[in-house]
Amino acid sequence: SKPLVAVVGRPNVGKSTFFNRVVGRRVAIVEDTPGVTRDRIYAEAEWMGIHFALIDTGGIEPASAEVIPAQMREQAQIAMDTADVILFMTDGKAGLTADDREVANMLRKTGKPVVLAVNKIDTAALPDDFYDFYELGIGEPLPLSSANMLGIGDILDALVGEF
Ligand code: GDP
Ligand code: MG
Repeated sequence: SKPLVAVVGRPNVGKSTFFNRVVGRRVAIVEDTPGVTRDRIYAEAEWMGIHFALIDTGGIEPASAEVIPAQMREQAQIAMDTADVILFMTDGKAGLTADDREVANMLRKTGKPVVLAVNKIDTAALPDDFYDFYELGIGEPLPLSSANMLGIGDILDALVGEF
């Protein structure tokens, strides 16, 4: 069967936007208000002739800040249980957060490969605090702009490189 890639990350970092770009259809629900992806969404995708499956683990992303850590732990657990490769997505406009660190701590314990994407890097220049993402200890952070379609190929290269 096809390798499975799970996309994990805080609400509003752009998981569903990335998912829709890669799948080429608006499958996942993107909302300007944080907290509104309704389902865990699955679709099949292809890069450089390599077929794989993608899940957006966003699930029912709660708007209330208190439940976000629990939601993220559940996402990370789903990814570690089911995926062959995990795409951990963060928000380069927001910078590194405590919730990012907590998920990274879980993901570091899996034997599965994790690719670290820093989304919302919409221009060629990296912000000074981009390098903070190295502190997560899960490798090189890859800049991405899902909105502007920048860096998507590099992310996909990294993902299929782990199959
Ligand atoms: P999710 O909650 O992680 O699934 O995030 P969404 O994909 O729903 O996106 C949340 C918000 O971030 C939406 O307003 C998107 O348009 C916006 N967004 C997604 N990717 C980018 C990006 O690369 N750059 C910028 N500036 N905004 C983005
Ligand atoms: Mg979503």
